[in-house]
Amino acid sequence: MPDLLLGQVLSFTADPFEAGETAAHHESHGAVLVEGGRITATGPAETLRARHPQARIHDYGRCLITAGFIDAHVHYPQTAMIASWGKRLIDWLNTYTFPEEMRFADPAYAAEIADRYLDLATAHGTTTVCTYTTIHPASVDAIFTAAQSRGMRIYAGKTCMDRNAPEGLRDTAQSAYDESKRLLEKWHGQDRLSYVITPRFSPTSTPEQLAAMGALWREYPDCLMQTHLSEQVDEIAWVRDLFPQSRDYLDTYESQGLLREGALYGHAIHLTEREKSRLIEAGASLVHCPTSNTFIGSGLFDMGLARHLRVGLATDTGGGSSFSMLHTMAAAYEIAQLRGHALHPSQLIWLATVGSARALHAETRIGNIAPGMEADLTILDLASTPAIEQATRRAQTIWEALFPTIMMGDDRAVRTVWIGGKPLR
Ligand SMILES: [Zn+2]
Repeated sequence: MPDLLLGQVLSFTADPFEAGETAAHHESHGAVLVEGGRITATGPAETLRARHPQARIHDYGRCLITAGFIDAHVHYPQTAMIASWGKRLIDWLNTYTFPEEMRFADPAYAAEIADRYLDLATAHGTTTVCTYTTIHPASVDAIFTAAQSRGMRIYAGKTCMDRNAPEGLRDTAQSAYDESKRLLEKWHGQDRLSYVITPRFSPTSTPEQLAAMGALWREYPDCLMQTHLSEQVDEIAWVRDLFPQSRDYLDTYESQGLLREGALYGHAIHLTEREKSRLIEAGASLVHCPTSNTFIGSGLFDMGLARHLRVGLATDTGGGSSFSMLHTMAAAYEIAQLRGHALHPSQLIWLATVGSARALHAETRIGNIAPGMEADLTILDLASTPAIEQATRRAQTIWEALFPTIMMGDDRAVRTVWIGGKPLR
């Protein structure tokens, strides 16, 4: 029996960075018909109710039905150490991140955190994540197992590091290749799971390991590849010392076959002109992680790049300070303001849905509400707290009604999510 979800419905017919707010379609009394895990129709509630009298009704009142949020850059193993005080990137990795990642040698701990992380993510309205793991194959098995049992479409891969990390958190070029390949063959394409080739970043991979990742990517060209790029100025100086032969940070990847369509670079804040033009030419994806960039003090991402290449939005849990894509949209708004530009609410919600889907090359499957798309949906209460409710009372447009929830909303604003055509709760 089909399910018919009633509420306000927000979808996109174009890119709001090109077409402005007319790129969005808002149905004030709308409906989404779901059957067999997919969206089969959307439109005015009255029309769909009349056409599908047999459908099971889920009336969400004045709630907003949007595509599920897609968090395009996460470190799920950092769940328990989110909001750790007082460090910048390199100190932060050594002080907080690496000791915590060490614990994932224990498969039971990995499974516990994978479950906890996905519970938190879905409670915050996120239905798809693209996550790093640790060097331990058990950390990859844990997150894919947890996602598979929830029916989620997720992206993950073994985080490879063979230098500048403590004993117990280093693999080698060969073992990184072998283990990544084994995990890729085990998980890639199972149900809604995709393997992502994942060298952490150039400071923790030797050129030999980056070359091994490049070789693996050539063997499995339909996989994505994720890594970090130009997050902090100290980090860029370190990369310059480690790779004296490279033209710039991007070149450390480019020269090893790790730059092309399907490459996802987290942060990408302090880019040279050469790096920008090569990223655009190659059709790479950038992932903006605004709460992380302010929390660790990294810098202000240039959202103007969204006109030229695929830009996704992400929490960067636990370098980011929140599991919430609403908080993340708010932080993206604030960073753009600091660069002199006000992102429209349609652009913010687009980044968290279609934008991230495009970054993951998954925009034909997830990130929007249209017939044929997989039914991953987030139901937002636009009056979830007294402060938000009073701020929306005079709203004349959907954007005035939605913006206070973007700026002040959290998991209380998430009424529920639908994953693969099923309500989570
Ligand atoms: Zn990261």
